[in-house]
Amino acid sequence: MPQTWTMYVTAQTLHKELATSDARRSAATWLRQRGFGAVVLENYRGGCVVSEDALKRARDDFHAEGFATLGGLMPVHGEGFGVRAEGNELRLPTFCYSREETRAALEGLIVQAVRIFGTVVIDDVFMTACRCECCDAARKDRPWDVFRRDLLVETARHWVAAAHRERSDARLIVKFPQYYDRYHLFGYDAERFPSVFDAVWQGTETRDPSTLAYGYVEPYEAYVNIKWMQQCAGEKLEGAWFDYLDCDEQLFFEQAVTTSLGALPRITVFSYSEPFVTGSILGRIAASHAVLKKLHQLAEEPSGVHVVKPPNRDGGEDLFLFDYLGMLGIPCVPATHLETTMRSAIITAHAVSLPNFSEMVRNALLAGRQVIATFDALRRMDVSLQGMFGYEPKGIMPGTTRVERFETAGSSYLVAAPCYVSGDLAPTDASVLIWAGTTGCEAGMIRIPFVTARTLSTGGRAVVWNLGTFGHDKFPIVERLNVPMSVPLLNMPKEICDALRAVATAPLGFAIKAPARVATYLFRRHAVFVNYSPVPAEIEVKGIPWKCETLLADSSNTGCTADRLLMAPRSFACVERVVPH
Ligand SMILES: [Zn+2]
Repeated sequence: MPQTWTMYVTAQTLHKELATSDARRSAATWLRQRGFGAVVLENYRGGCVVSEDALKRARDDFHAEGFATLGGLMPVHGEGFGVRAEGNELRLPTFCYSREETRAALEGLIVQAVRIFGTVVIDDVFMTACRCECCDAARKDRPWDVFRRDLLVETARHWVAAAHRERSDARLIVKFPQYYDRYHLFGYDAERFPSVFDAVWQGTETRDPSTLAYGYVEPYEAYVNIKWMQQCAGEKLEGAWFDYLDCDEQLFFEQAVTTSLGALPRITVFSYSEPFVTGSILGRIAASHAVLKKLHQLAEEPSGVHVVKPPNRDGGEDLFLFDYLGMLGIPCVPATHLETTMRSAIITAHAVSLPNFSEMVRNALLAGRQVIATFDALRRMDVSLQGMFGYEPKGIMPGTTRVERFETAGSSYLVAAPCYVSGDLAPTDASVLIWAGTTGCEAGMIRIPFVTARTLSTGGRAVVWNLGTFGHDKFPIVERLNVPMSVPLLNMPKEICDALRAVATAPLGFAIKAPARVATYLFRRHAVFVNYSPVPAEIEVKGIPWKCETLLADSSNTGCTADRLLMAPRSFACVERVVPH
């Protein structure tokens, strides 16, 4: 499958930097030299509108230079256009979609863009945080999140129909933002949007994980996003998209590496602007298209530990947990449901509200599978299912507590940086595989079960991990969408990371020893490791035979033996697996 690199061009850029044919011709040359073959030309962003004539001229100039062109628009409110959302749930200027004025104005732009380009993508603020009187009256007895999804699905249906009336070959694409655990609150419907729109693109703009600007988002999220949306949208998921905001050249390149492992036919970069043209930020990507294409091609049929996130279900105290599971080196395979064919699966609070949740988990355990529940999933599941994990309600007490040490297999490991358990546990019928220890003011050293397991007569194994991330109450006013805090899960001692990973992968027949921040991506014929940390990493693998001579790495300091990899800081390595015939 080919990989097409597409550059996004905003309405503001079309008005300024790319306002003339000369500027567009030199931009096309610059982009071609850096591996791009298509551009998205935007006709609206935040009140800034581009005229039909200007769009046609821009389209024709890029066509003449051999570029494919698509239309785009960014539905953020600007003065004199549509009706702005009311209330302060988000400071972001979203629209009120209960008002015909908003819907008709945006529909006019969509139809215009379809007329010019045929294919049009809606950028990732097709959402609303409106709580105005109109919205409140229209929602009747529905919760806000349900009302917003219904409203936006209905709006999208109108727009898609209008686009197809304008041109029979119209394709209206929705781009999902990166913050997958907040979608459902503001109208992004991962269940219905894929069937309503002609295609779906997915945001993978993880940016700098060490700053609050755009969230403390871990890089593995890019892969979770693509693979999870693929489960929701199937073949309709056609593209991924990342940007340079809050990135240096290396972070920008790592987004490209992780996104390429998602193996989608189109990668869009946001957006053509000053830092690209005058700086070196695009340098590594531009110089690495061949290797990125190789990663894209080898990323076929992912395998590993299933993680279950149904669309439109709330994640409780496990928000964005999948990012951290990946950064702990667990090769994750996102799914929307638990199935009895999954040999090892992790269930979080996301899945518990499914009507058939208990039945799914019970069936998996009875089929001899391993199911790992987080603390919040255990706390929320019904009493009889808690019993299958070896617990009674009185033995499950929430309360985030800082851990001083972990104990497992007769050894004790002090923690060097803050680590936490999600609550206190007292299993009635499960064995403790890992203990967490902390000092109580009068009780002395307290031991808290951190990992417990109960093996059923069917061979099924019900495991509990006493960990989690955070809930929606942790989002501050300045960051309502992306990961709002630095989650300490990656601070666990290496031996505990190894032990957790070993529990998760045991039913799959392999084990990986590695420090945190080294992600594993397992595919049918290849294993890929990405060291996202600033220090070298040693990886020891059992049960994944590979051919050392096939090592592909982006650092000459990375080396490989039959079962070990020594990886340079901030690098990737790929080896071909020995696959039995
Ligand atoms: Zn409203």
